[in-house]
Amino acid sequence: MALPAVPLAGLAGVSAARCLICRNCGTEAPLRAQHACHSCFGPLEIGYDSDLLARVTREQIEAGPKSMWRYAPLLPVGQDAAERVTLDPGYTPLVRASALADAVGVRAPLWVKDDSANPTHSFKDRVVSVALTAARAFGFTRFACASTGNLANSVAAHAARAGVPSMVFIPADLEAGKVLTTAVYGGDVVAVDGSYDDANRLCSELTETDEFEQTAFVNVNLRPFYAEGSKTLGYEVAEQLGWRLPAQVVIPMASGELLTKVDKAFAELVELGLVGAPPEGWRVFGAQSSGCSPIAAAMHAGVDEITPVRPTGIAKSLNIGDPAAGLYALESVRRTGGWMDHVTDDDIREGIRLLARTTGIFAETAGGVTVAVLRKLVTTGKLDPDAETVVFNTGEGLKTLDAIDGSVGPTYRIRPSLRAAKEAQLIG
Ligand SMILES: *Cc1c(COP(=O)(O)O)cnc(C)c1O
Ligand SMILES: [Zn+2]
Repeated sequence: MALPAVPLAGLAGVSAARCLICRNCGTEAPLRAQHACHSCFGPLEIGYDSDLLARVTREQIEAGPKSMWRYAPLLPVGQDAAERVTLDPGYTPLVRASALADAVGVRAPLWVKDDSANPTHSFKDRVVSVALTAARAFGFTRFACASTGNLANSVAAHAARAGVPSMVFIPADLEAGKVLTTAVYGGDVVAVDGSYDDANRLCSELTETDEFEQTAFVNVNLRPFYAEGSKTLGYEVAEQLGWRLPAQVVIPMASGELLTKVDKAFAELVELGLVGAPPEGWRVFGAQSSGCSPIAAAMHAGVDEITPVRPTGIAKSLNIGDPAAGLYALESVRRTGGWMDHVTDDDIREGIRLLARTTGIFAETAGGVTVAVLRKLVTTGKLDPDAETVVFNTGEGLKTLDAIDGSVGPTYRIRPSLRAAKEAQLIG
């Protein structure tokens, strides 16, 4: 017998979400804006009514909108389209990348899940749509976040669409492109003299103040909802492969949350019978930059503890020195038999160019990290070149032009005459 669904206060649609549940000790709490367990301070995630989830069918999903909301039955909020705070992200291309496969030595099918095609050009639109839909249902009157760039873009744009004020906190040294593409939406942008981790700590402290009582910080007090949005990337890959799971996925890590949620999405699809269980399971690989690799370092050292670092390097969207989901990312990668690695700034630039040359996809630095780590994993024998693989491009190259400035440019410069064309040997 199915338990009665608990509708989230203020939402007309019925959600399968039942409670918040501690990832650490399993203690449950009601669905509300809370991110840490009151018993052990562990992170909370969404607990679902498994009977309600079990009723979800492929046909129901396929009949849904061409956006991430086709997976609304598997999400905590957003079942009623009228209640959503969203730019309708998702349904992004899964691109077959044969030339990239050849270049890095992968013989099995290789795919790029290109989430730069989202409305604000990163996968963050997925997490923000879920978090802010919950935030509005809970009655918050201002939207906020601590961000390494893309989250700020997305929160500011969602707030503008919804007509709600926003305030985003970013490290002051962010790429000009990321600041501009946030500020243009008209919300408040607070540049913090410090790292992302400093901005994040400040935001945690602000949530305790009277002035911010009505403010939803998507990745702080709304974090359990925020994190669920990442599952839709995993669902989409499976559906786009014809309701099948790939053998291997390579995923960039900042907090590590996206990686854990793609793994969770795959596990849910198997559990709900929406995909067959692959005989050999799936393997999850994590990618970081050498300027900020606290999760990969723990993997390499074989330890269960993340030592925070002070991030450096060009992959600023991944520069979280004290990653909130780091331990859970380690758990996913170890359990599935994957691996993690990190690459230098020069490797990242080369990764951006390699992806662009072989697929026509221009990625931001995080995509360069992922492609460069893919190549490294093949070279070091950690990734099976004969197993189908999906790499995740999570962001758009136009936002991080500074990263490759000077490393690409015109092939020729000529005067506008046939003679000049001849001198340049464009013609004989
Ligand atoms: C935020 C971000 C990530 C990583 O997200 P986490 O869930 O914090 O690991 C990856 N790529 C891009 C482009 C991002 O902006
Ligand atoms: Zn707990």
